[in-house]
Amino acid sequence: MTVWDDLVGQEKVSAQLDAAARDADAQVTAVVDHTPVAEASKMTHAWLFTGPPGSGRSTAARAFAAALQCVSPDRALGGSPGCGFCDGCHTSLIGTHADVQIIRTDLLSIGVKETRDLVRRAQMSPAGRRWQVIIVEDADRLTEGAGNVLLKAIEEPAPRTVWLLCAPSIEDVLPTIRSRCRHLTLRTPPVDAVADVLVRRDGIEPDVAAAVARATQGHIGRARRLATDKRARERRAAVLKLPLRVDDVGACLKAAQELIDAASEDAKQVAEETDVKETEDMKAALGASQGGRMPRGTAGVMKELEDKQKRRKTRTQRDSLDLALIDLTAFYRDVLALQFGTSLALANTELRDTLDRLARGSSPETTLRRIEAIAACREALDRNVAPLLAVEAMTMALRAG
Ligand SMILES: [Zn+2]
Repeated sequence: MTVWDDLVGQEKVSAQLDAAARDADAQVTAVVDHTPVAEASKMTHAWLFTGPPGSGRSTAARAFAAALQCVSPDRALGGSPGCGFCDGCHTSLIGTHADVQIIRTDLLSIGVKETRDLVRRAQMSPAGRRWQVIIVEDADRLTEGAGNVLLKAIEEPAPRTVWLLCAPSIEDVLPTIRSRCRHLTLRTPPVDAVADVLVRRDGIEPDVAAAVARATQGHIGRARRLATDKRARERRAAVLKLPLRVDDVGACLKAAQELIDAASEDAKQVAEETDVKETEDMKAALGASQGGRMPRGTAGVMKELEDKQKRRKTRTQRDSLDLALIDLTAFYRDVLALQFGTSLALANTELRDTLDRLARGSSPETTLRRIEAIAACREALDRNVAPLLAVEAMTMALRAG
């Protein structure tokens, strides 16, 4: 077991990161020994990890951070850093290492103020005398102003600071920033590799693992959630019934409303799980009295927290709706595959009868048009079109005929 084992199906990227971690380790050791650092290092100060959702961008960044902090004695014997077991690796992977900062936002954007705080932090020397690692999981969510703040920090990095930025694609990151990063592209892992990791690491039954890996087309996080969360499975099953229901205008409008309701229900569930505890913790930290009375001057902070929770709920709702649309897209792709006479890599094998019926009852052109309608809906949501309107337009376009 090493830190790279979590990087499913990314052999090329793992090899590059392993080489960089070795060089980084040599640099740290060299400085301690007062010997000069090699010129042609595979290590650099800013990295950009891109890849489709589920390809494991943040997993890769975290594994690399662990390898940079690895203090396993085996390194001295020629072993690679990133043992996965030492204190450096372990705390980096679970997110408690003092010199690894992970920025994961629940919000739609990362602003200037937050980024300034980060940059300040990046200037500090690492407490553990190795590297100060800052992982920005959603670099695509930096506002333009925040991007400019970050750019300055990347242009003139502190000697032991490493920035690890993650984004869906290179176009999602400001050109000035990406030109200063070493770019690594992750691919969607093969379905077999995902199933294998679910069995091996999460102890999921092989046939269940194979089914959810196929259904999510190689998205590890979603596959794991489907395998372990009954409500997620039920919601998905409901979404995939939609194509057979939308046969008249009334049914289309109803289906659209249900999609919206399911997303807000999902967001409500997530909010209930996190908000209550977060609010209680904040109240305690601000010194609320036994009866819950808040000290003077704390109303502003509580209001800020409330706003943050509201924004987070909006984002969860959007993400949930988007997942439903991704499932629908996979469904119609299956229909299209059957219309073209191939059933090799169907995502929804358990719905074979439904898929066959739709494949026979419509033309490939119609199926393509439907896939495009879903894509148009996702784009409209991205542009902040009112969700119900966008989804109604989509369900109407999915209608038979
Ligand atoms: Zn280690």
